[in-house]
Amino acid sequence: VNSCIFCKIIAGEIPAEIIYSDDFVVAFSDIAPKAPVHILLIPKRHLRGANELLTDDAELLSHIFSAANVLAKKFNIDKSGYRVITNNGKDAGQSVDHLHFHLLGGKDLGDLVG
Ligand code: 5GP
Ligand code: ZN
Repeated sequence: VNSCIFCKIIAGEIPAEIIYSDDFVVAFSDIAPKAPVHILLIPKRHLRGANELLTDDAELLSHIFSAANVLAKKFNIDKSGYRVITNNGKDAGQSVDHLHFHLLGGKDLGDLVG
């Protein structure tokens, strides 16, 4: 989608620190990290949020969680623990309307991260 900042990152039109990509997924560092490790995992295909996911997207989701797993090991938070979250819609604080999963770790994340 033209005006989408994450589509622009995928297209290389906006710079980002890309740390992983495969056929389905791109991962890059969050510009305003809320934890020592704060990575965003996004599908290359524009989906507005988790509410657009369907059973057809099983392969996409397996790639996202597999990438999160690989990156957790790479950034050494696989043993200490981490959280994968997605915000959907206004009350969840979704600010970019391209589906993304936050991979957070490197500190005690408490009960809730938003
Ligand atoms: P949300 O609040 O929608 O769940 O998360 C959006 C996230 O995208 C925020 O954590 C924000 O810091 C991050 N973000 C927004 N714009 C950019 C950008 O241009 N580059 C990067 N790397 N992260 C961004
Ligand atoms: Zn997009």
